[in-house]
Amino acid sequence: MYKRKSRKLDEPREMEAKVGIIKRADGSAMFKIGNTIAMAAVYGPRNLYPKFMQNPEKGILRVNYNMFSFSVSERIRPGPSRRSKEISLVSENALLSCLNLEEFPNSVIDVYIEILQADAGTRCAGICAASMALADAGIPMRDLVSAISVGKVGDAIVVDLDKEEEDYEGGSTDMPIAMMPRNGKISLLQMDGNMSKEDIKKALELGRNTCNKIYELQKRTLKEKYMVEVENE
Ligand code: UDP
Repeated sequence: MYKRKSRKLDEPREMEAKVGIIKRADGSAMFKIGNTIAMAAVYGPRNLYPKFMQNPEKGILRVNYNMFSFSVSERIRPGPSRRSKEISLVSENALLSCLNLEEFPNSVIDVYIEILQADAGTRCAGICAASMALADAGIPMRDLVSAISVGKVGDAIVVDLDKEEEDYEGGSTDMPIAMMPRNGKISLLQMDGNMSKEDIKKALELGRNTCNKIYELQKRTLKEKYMVEVENE
């Protein structure tokens, strides 16, 4: 059976979160899990230009995911790639579930996700940071979105694969998921590899439990910032 050196199979890497890290932005956050660090900045809702793109019935959400050139040891070429466009799109869809864009006619909410350091699970860390940044921007939301990668390494079902596990010689499957923890609705589910139906069920269960832990950290971090601000007023 596959074994981890320093954590249990159902244990995510150590997590850390912060909000309000980019003063210029309307909302911002950092989410760190192990050696993966994501930052997110939110601008808006603001008027959407060019004007012909405006819709008087509802606004749009625009998500841009990017990895810094120095986020992995082999330099990443700056600028959009097929991978970054795909991750921007799936992150946008994952976050859309928590917003009601009809509240923002003719407007855009811009979300920028930057990966400072990557050791797998960057799309999930990016979504966690982005949903906190949306809340920090004061945008009304149905719930936060929490995300984690689950999957299989060798013969073991695991949560939060790192890069070494993703590249495991005995074979691995990576299944990133995102959800709104309060109602349990899943807004991102991808899979790179193969797993049986039974394994998927077990992995989803692990994912749900870990998303609940992430959710607590996200809420606590937001509350801490605003409690301090209220106390200082
Ligand atoms: N990665 C890399 N170079 C790249 C893209 C990715 O080294 O150009 C690494 C990085 O550590 C990333 C991991 O591969 O986190 C897994 O990438 P994947 O596309 O599966 O997305 P992620 O798990 O980061 O959401």
